[in-house]
Amino acid sequence: MPITQFVLKVHSRCDLACDHCYVYEHADTGWRSRPRVVPEAVLARVAERIGEHAAAHGLTVVRVVLHGGEPLLAGPTVFRRTVELLRAALPEVCELDLRVHTNGIRLDAAYCELFDKLGVRVGISLDGDRAANDRHRRFANGRSSHPQVLRAVGLLREPRFRHLYGGLLCTVDVANDPVAVYRALAELEPPAVDFLLPHATWEHPPERPPGAGAVPYADWLLTVHERWEADGRPFAVRTFDSVHRTLSGLPGLSEALGLEPVDLVVLETDGTYEQADSLKTAYDGAPATGMDVFRHSLDEVAGHPGMAARQSGLEGLSAQCRACPVVRSCGGGLYAHRYREGSFDHPSVYCADLRALVDGLAARAGAVRRPAAPPLDLAGPGLTDEQLDELAMGLGGAETVRALARSQLALTRTMLAAVHGSSGVARSEAWELLAELDAVEPAAVDAVFAHPYVRAWAARRLSGDPGAGLGTLAELAAAAAVRAGRGDGVVVPVRDGVLHLPTLGRLVLGGGAREALVTGGRTAWTARTEGGAVAGPGDARWQPLRRIGRGIALEDVDPQRGVHRWPVEERLAGAEYRRWAGDFREAADLLDRDLPEYAVGLWEGLTTVTPLQRRSDGHDVSSAARQAFGAVAIARPRGAETLALLLVHEFQHVKLGAVLDREELYDRGDTRLFEAFGLTPRPIGSLFQAVYAHLAVTAFWGARARGGRGEQARSKFRHWRTLTDEAVDLLADSGALTPLGKRFADGARASVDPWLRSIEG
Ligand code: SF4
Repeated sequence: MPITQFVLKVHSRCDLACDHCYVYEHADTGWRSRPRVVPEAVLARVAERIGEHAAAHGLTVVRVVLHGGEPLLAGPTVFRRTVELLRAALPEVCELDLRVHTNGIRLDAAYCELFDKLGVRVGISLDGDRAANDRHRRFANGRSSHPQVLRAVGLLREPRFRHLYGGLLCTVDVANDPVAVYRALAELEPPAVDFLLPHATWEHPPERPPGAGAVPYADWLLTVHERWEADGRPFAVRTFDSVHRTLSGLPGLSEALGLEPVDLVVLETDGTYEQADSLKTAYDGAPATGMDVFRHSLDEVAGHPGMAARQSGLEGLSAQCRACPVVRSCGGGLYAHRYREGSFDHPSVYCADLRALVDGLAARAGAVRRPAAPPLDLAGPGLTDEQLDELAMGLGGAETVRALARSQLALTRTMLAAVHGSSGVARSEAWELLAELDAVEPAAVDAVFAHPYVRAWAARRLSGDPGAGLGTLAELAAAAAVRAGRGDGVVVPVRDGVLHLPTLGRLVLGGGAREALVTGGRTAWTARTEGGAVAGPGDARWQPLRRIGRGIALEDVDPQRGVHRWPVEERLAGAEYRRWAGDFREAADLLDRDLPEYAVGLWEGLTTVTPLQRRSDGHDVSSAARQAFGAVAIARPRGAETLALLLVHEFQHVKLGAVLDREELYDRGDTRLFEAFGLTPRPIGSLFQAVYAHLAVTAFWGARARGGRGEQARSKFRHWRTLTDEAVDLLADSGALTPLGKRFADGARASVDPWLRSIEG
């Protein structure tokens, strides 16, 4: 079984001295001999190992949790380098799901900005209110860490960083008031909370305060559960969600509960592979595998007996667990907690609590109302004045384009909610699953919803297009479920013999199948048709979405991609895909070198290039669609220079379209036609778009001319400078602009004026 989750230690020390910490306060002392900061040579080898493992097993996503000690002690350079190396090593088709688990002490705006840029979500350890947190989570001098942690969580709750907020990790202490702990955590509006049982074994049993009853941990968690249910489950709680799922026959969500095989390995700062960190609680050296990234592959680690034991489900449990009526939900508890006298062949030291917890949740499951699908996030984040000024000039750096992308994602979500609301379907399992995944694995849902053609489908559906069937909702749910890797089953329509998983690819089943049950995780999902035929990602009929570099997809499979003005290409043969990838690499390098002020925003917002059919007259063809943020469609031109030009040109339309979705720039009721750029007269909206695109076109030829690319570049620069200058005047004097539209015209003028004085003219 492949490994898909990696806990990567980037620093081996901590700036807190929590007395319940399994790294420094338990039996294992391996940390003493390891480098404090992970060295570059280890990082490079780790990335190579993960990359080769992903390629060998055809993984479509790997999760890397940056961990410690306290990972933020490693400093920003290590994070930047780690992500660079990992991204470079992974195959194009494999996504990188990045998280960091921190105590929050050092989390500041600069770190948040870095994590935003690198795409890292942040989980913070917090044990509840101040009294609860101070019980263990203190500095070595006894000082409280609570104020710093609240400050860190406060940062993550700010609108600009909210999307980075991964959740809170709370270690249970039954001496704390469960209601006070719950309230303190709920006040921080986390997307998810993990309640962790303190690490213990039969040889070092957990604290059981006198008078606290026979099952104090179950009682404590059930009290929290009561409050959580009463509040309508305001955030995901993995412990509860996992038990609820296993009670309904679905796979569990946690290494600590259920029978799902564990596909996780820990990478220490010296490059050694270890099993789960929790094993540090058992005995000195318990997590060791004796293997390291320099000498051993991840396949070899996966075959280690300790790893295999944690992957063997029911068979790997003690006889008592195998005979236990709640074993499917409990799974014998966390592996480390079973340790006694040299063996893990025992029930958990928390056995009585786990049994009471599962029984308690099962008893309540019949009584509690399953919540309606929670409303998806309908609020769109705004643009700052500085960002609007930047966009007005035709530009838009990484942060600005990220803000546009977030705003577009919110709009897509609103439209999807409208699709569901107007569907007339009383209960949609696909919608409910999307809502559930959104609470537990929001990154998986975001990754699917952010695909450009999801909104294109929603727009068709809302406009009453009979060809935009509701089956797409099931495809979206299935793609999100596969990305989340929870094993949810989703029935997906098979249209004309083809099953689509948006953002992942398509399965060409042929035959007469009308639907298939898609189930399974990231690496091993299957599609089972009514006739019992089974296919999956290892099948020759699977056509994955391929990438051409910079993480950008070459979209030649999505059935919704035909929203562009020109006919799209069908699935490209391997040789044509490789030509695209080669040309794109050259075009991307050219833009980085000659037009970095445009390239930085382009690489942030462009997610998809859709191949168009070439025109028979040889003219270049390209397009952007208002309902498909992040996509440009292009017929592969002759030469990387033209491809680079078409990329920046079309992405200008993408940016301006996203601005127009939230701001009024001109009077939409103005019916006059304006003549510019030697084109047929066109309405004010088209004039605005043409000006905006040609700011980039002129900048492109100016940069090429300055870069010594010959008389042709100078001549094109002069040509487009003149036309753009005239068109900006026409726009500014049109009388159709709103105050913000005038600001955009002023911004365009500020970009054009220096060109009029430039020597290339
Ligand atoms: S409740 Fe106890 S016996 Fe049952 S599965 Fe869990 S640990 Fe094993």
